[in-house]
Amino acid sequence: MNLQLKWPLKRKALSILYWTLLFYMVLALSYWWFALEKQNRQIEFIRLQELKIQSGTAQSASQSIESTITDYANRKTIQYTAEGLTFLAFIVLGAVVVFRATRRQFRLSEQQQNWMMAITHELKTPIAVTRLNLETLQKRELETSVRDKLLNNSIAETGRLNQLCSNVLLAAQFDSGNYRANKMPLNLFDVVSRAAEDTRSRYPGYTIEVKGDATANVIAEEWLIVILVSNLLENAVAYSPREKPVTLEIQGNQQNVQLQVSDHGPGIDAAEQKKIFQKFYRTGNELTRQKKGTGLGLYLCKKIAEAHNARISVESQPGKGSRFQVSFPSFHA
Ligand code: ADP
Repeated sequence: MNLQLKWPLKRKALSILYWTLLFYMVLALSYWWFALEKQNRQIEFIRLQELKIQSGTAQSASQSIESTITDYANRKTIQYTAEGLTFLAFIVLGAVVVFRATRRQFRLSEQQQNWMMAITHELKTPIAVTRLNLETLQKRELETSVRDKLLNNSIAETGRLNQLCSNVLLAAQFDSGNYRANKMPLNLFDVVSRAAEDTRSRYPGYTIEVKGDATANVIAEEWLIVILVSNLLENAVAYSPREKPVTLEIQGNQQNVQLQVSDHGPGIDAAEQKKIFQKFYRTGNELTRQKKGTGLGLYLCKKIAEAHNARISVESQPGKGSRFQVSFPSFHA
């Protein structure tokens, strides 16, 4: 609460300071130009007056000195106008660079703060649910069906916790540039089927169909592909109505193997489609958002795709669902 109140104020104060400074610099520069011009013209005037007073000078010589004095004054005007404009160009350039860098920094800080709140909540929920389930199992004699339900629920929650930790650790590794993928030939269909099975067990009641080319092979690191597919499926399930199926499809040809995850959820606005792959980016308003999440899932999907020379993209129409597509280079033994 405290942060939410302080942050906009700090931002507003810095913004006022920035614009005041910029305005002051441009104003000072304009004042400097007018003062110099005034001084220049005064010097020109005094020199011309002195020339007139020197009555002994011949008329033609006086005219040529007069034009020399005026030329000199005009040259001076051009000189400091050019200097002033160069200075102004540097000020504007500097101001644009500072403005953009500060705006990026503000946005990142804001997203990080929101992320801290989101991740704390995301971590606490599975821990609290699992603890409650275990305490219930410890204290009461329960029927087998109820006991199994609590155990399954705990396994699902710890699975979620595990995926969250993997996401955070992997993002840190990618960001530090330390991650070296250990790739080998894989049958993509087998790997995604296992990831789909895992997601099904965590989201009972949802239909996840896996179909397509069961023979397509790629060079990849298995656990990264599992994280990629799990993140795409988890989003598809989270944003879809329960009664509509989520489809995972593999299509292979000589050059590429395409992995597609399609859902019938609310879709994603065209303007948001590029941004959703940015770190911490989540669509909608921070205060009114209903869905849980950390904004790391698609960022990691993009990083994992890049680590496999693959391309990730999204096609979506608001109201008609989304289709995420990852295109890997094919592997032929
Ligand atoms: P999050 O933890 O918020 O799901 P992601 O990086 O996985 O983070 O996704 C970023 C944003 O992209 C989400 O907040 C959501 O608004 C949007 N998004 C991702 N997948 C889908 C989808 N299948 N349908 C609709 N919106 C989606």
